[in-house]
Amino acid sequence: MSETEKLKEFLFDTKKCGWDTLSDEYRHEIIKFSDEFIHFLNKSKTEREAASFITEILEKNGFVNIKEKIVLAPGDKIYYINREKAIYAAIIGTKSIESGLNIVGSHIDSPRLDLKPNPLYENTGFAFFKTHYYGGVKKYQWTTIPLAIHGVIVKTNGEKINISIGEDEEDPIFTITDLLPHLAQEQMEKKLKDGISGEDLNLLIGSIPFGDEKCPERIKLNILKILNDKYGITERDFVSSELELVPAFKARTLGFDRSMVAGYGQDDRVCAYTSLRALLDVSSPAKTVVCIFADKEEIGSMGNTGMESHVFDTFISELLNKTNANRPNLLDKVFCNSKMLSADVDAAFDPIYPSVSERNNAAYLGKGVGLNKYTGVRGKSGASDANAEFVAVVRNIFESNNISYQVSELGKVDTGGGGTIAYILANKGIDVIDCGIPVLSMHSPYEVTSKFDIYEAYKAYRAFLIN
Ligand code: MN
Ligand code: MN
Repeated sequence: MSETEKLKEFLFDTKKCGWDTLSDEYRHEIIKFSDEFIHFLNKSKTEREAASFITEILEKNGFVNIKEKIVLAPGDKIYYINREKAIYAAIIGTKSIESGLNIVGSHIDSPRLDLKPNPLYENTGFAFFKTHYYGGVKKYQWTTIPLAIHGVIVKTNGEKINISIGEDEEDPIFTITDLLPHLAQEQMEKKLKDGISGEDLNLLIGSIPFGDEKCPERIKLNILKILNDKYGITERDFVSSELELVPAFKARTLGFDRSMVAGYGQDDRVCAYTSLRALLDVSSPAKTVVCIFADKEEIGSMGNTGMESHVFDTFISELLNKTNANRPNLLDKVFCNSKMLSADVDAAFDPIYPSVSERNNAAYLGKGVGLNKYTGVRGKSGASDANAEFVAVVRNIFESNNISYQVSELGKVDTGGGGTIAYILANKGIDVIDCGIPVLSMHSPYEVTSKFDIYEAYKAYRAFLIN
């Protein structure tokens, strides 16, 4: 290496491809970890399923429901389930909670199609379900793919019926039809966003009529008869249901070199899973560590299962109560002393669409976990901009633990934008920075991540929790 090259190596911040320098053993660890993640993804296609699977994993690893604990002591592992859709988990540290929490927060809801409250109708030989999309979706991506129905129907007596149809090979699947190209001249002239309208996202669910020919709507009747035989429900029970349409296909390893994961719902269950695994590695921490698995991020974090609610505050208050540390206004102080990684996915640079990214400030697949100092739109509007002092703390943790990371923005200035739960926690006084895994085809039915980045995120969250 020449003197010039040496100087350049020392001074430049060169982002290296993570796969370049790995030992065989390390590669093996990465592959094993991602296989376990793929299993998680296939078992967790909705926020309720993710919450239930996360609870199961937490309990297997010694976490107990906080309701079962009267007093909490250092080393205790607890979790709180918020209405089966969001979870907060914590390990009590040896230092006081007042000295601050180390938090990693992800979300477990993903873009999808929900059934409308009155979904079922019949039209010209078919029965359909009306849908209402949830989160930011490109509507055309949800037609002509196999869809599964997941969710719950709750009867007036409180009985809850769990539904999952379309995952077993034996199950039927459902789909939303689209026009044949031969007759799509007018549709193809439309803007992409108008090609499929929200009211066209109707799920095809049946075509056989029931009983005698004089009665109208016999196909709808047949569907209701099938549902009544199987679940004991009538049409009105849809009113108190939450049924979600998700891709019926499975998450898979991607590429000849098996370097990537393709699967639905990686925003943000890839960060949920990696932070969960990081938490499981922690024992008797100094600071109290907390993992958030939030709901409703994709539609603005509102409602009592979203991060805008005060349920998280109540959980931390409970930690203070049960460690006998609480006193007036202590919660605010706890938050001001806390630090957090907002574990949400990052938009990855896509060489097919380079024009939306600015190469010096884009996140690349395979170059490690991505930090976003800020998100927001236009002039950083709506962003919680992490303080330089805090970014230095995070950098130091990552660099001293040999974690590959990259710092990026969500696309070029004025090209679009977005947000996470970061600002909500930052508004409480917590030091927060976005830190997640770069994703290709984000919000599509089949998102793509790098196995290298997944493993680096796991390491990053673990290092952050214990430092
Ligand atoms: Mn997200
Ligand atoms: Mn999202």
